[in-house]
Amino acid sequence: MKKYLKNNANIVFMSKVENISEEKEVLDQGENLLSKLALEAELADYSPVKGCMVIRPYGYAAWEQVRDALDKMIKDTGHQNAYFPLFIPESFLKKEAEHVEGFAPECAVVTYGGGKELEEKLVVRPTSETIINYMFSKWVQSYRDLPLLLNQWANVVRWEMRTRLFLRTTEFLWQEGHTCHATKEEAEEETIKMLGVYKKLSEEYLAIPIVDGLKTESQRFAGAVTTYCIEGLMKDGKALQMGTSHYLGQNFAKAFETKFQDQNGELQFVHQTSWGVSTRLIGALIMTHHDEKGLKFPPRIAPIQIVIVPIYKTDVEKEMVLKKCKELEESLKENFRIKIDDRDQYSPGWKFNHWEFKGVPIRLNLGPKDISNNVVEIVRRDTLEKLRGIPQEGLLQYLIKLSTEIQENLFRQANDFKNKNTEFVASEKEFIEKITTTPGFLVSFWCGSSSCEDHIKEKTKATIRCIPFNTPDCQNIPVDQMKKEGYCIVCNKDAKQKVIFAKAY
Ligand SMILES: [Zn+2]
Repeated sequence: MKKYLKNNANIVFMSKVENISEEKEVLDQGENLLSKLALEAELADYSPVKGCMVIRPYGYAAWEQVRDALDKMIKDTGHQNAYFPLFIPESFLKKEAEHVEGFAPECAVVTYGGGKELEEKLVVRPTSETIINYMFSKWVQSYRDLPLLLNQWANVVRWEMRTRLFLRTTEFLWQEGHTCHATKEEAEEETIKMLGVYKKLSEEYLAIPIVDGLKTESQRFAGAVTTYCIEGLMKDGKALQMGTSHYLGQNFAKAFETKFQDQNGELQFVHQTSWGVSTRLIGALIMTHHDEKGLKFPPRIAPIQIVIVPIYKTDVEKEMVLKKCKELEESLKENFRIKIDDRDQYSPGWKFNHWEFKGVPIRLNLGPKDISNNVVEIVRRDTLEKLRGIPQEGLLQYLIKLSTEIQENLFRQANDFKNKNTEFVASEKEFIEKITTTPGFLVSFWCGSSSCEDHIKEKTKATIRCIPFNTPDCQNIPVDQMKKEGYCIVCNKDAKQKVIFAKAY
């Protein structure tokens, strides 16, 4: 075993990712790191169309895990899936003034079809509020039709100037929920409920701690009354908006005449919500869970949870070891996504590096000696700890427990990182110092004016990520600043709220 490791552990990937551990780099290196990890771990590739991305099988399998977990939660909260067309008549987009203003610059528009110029241009959907409301106006007649709770899994297109694998691509995959309610209260409750679903997905499946809260007016979804979000802090100190949930009020209902007859026989506009998360979550995973050896997938959404690496020298050993590997696979495959790497052309050492880079949470090494002792060797990806001589008897239970431990440990590590890089600042001077030297979440008082918000953005490129529901754990928050009110860091006027600033993807 030792000999194999020594001879064969030429660090194949290390040369390609040698900068990986230098995490306190300037921010653009974070973006380089993202591309490296996504490309080398075979999650994605660049496409011949600029700004688009090819999701490779390993990356798509990760997305499927995220999608399936979320799909179940969406259905468990009473929603049904449906599908609406990719093309939206241009006139639909123009019906809601703020919506068209927000989205027009990013839209791809089809003007030709079947060799002829189209009578009406078709927008490739950047989001589907308009076409869905057109249908809702036909389907909703009475209070008995409400609430109407739909979701669709789809691709959308937003013409991006500056793109990044997974985090910002011209075309991306997502889900978009769209609901209609009889009252404002019900719709607002739905908005918050679905934000809670996203929080659960992020923290319990992706092992990424988030801050949840309300967007300021400048960051609000075009056409919404209020936008809520979950924000993660990536390892390079940049924030990532990981999901949004909008209370749309009656804005789209009025534009599309989505009305219902209430219990008194009167016509009312419905109150609506929409909410979405995308393949950006895979980018969040990459930028949260990695080290100098590559990715670290949380077990709950890892495409492969356990890889078995057989170790042998002679043909006789090979036959015996592979037979045992298959037995183990059989006994574990109902509980785990498991793979035996029985490729002859690669050495065990090469395979160790390969699967570590790809972030498989648990590796089982199995050689002739392990077989005669009825044990296996286990390597944890999160800590790289080697667990020798683990009995084959009771292995399933052992691995179930270990898998939970790894999941929790990855969350703990990410949460520690977030807390360590969340700081309270009391003045603009301090703010500018912090944001340029140690990027992360900066918590400060804000008066609520967009001019103070813009001032910080122009000076530092940092934006208000959200007005958090709860003040996050800060490194250094003085007791007197824990109180609800203080002074705006820009204008020094009274401020009734704390906000979170960060540079963001
Ligand atoms: Zn101010």
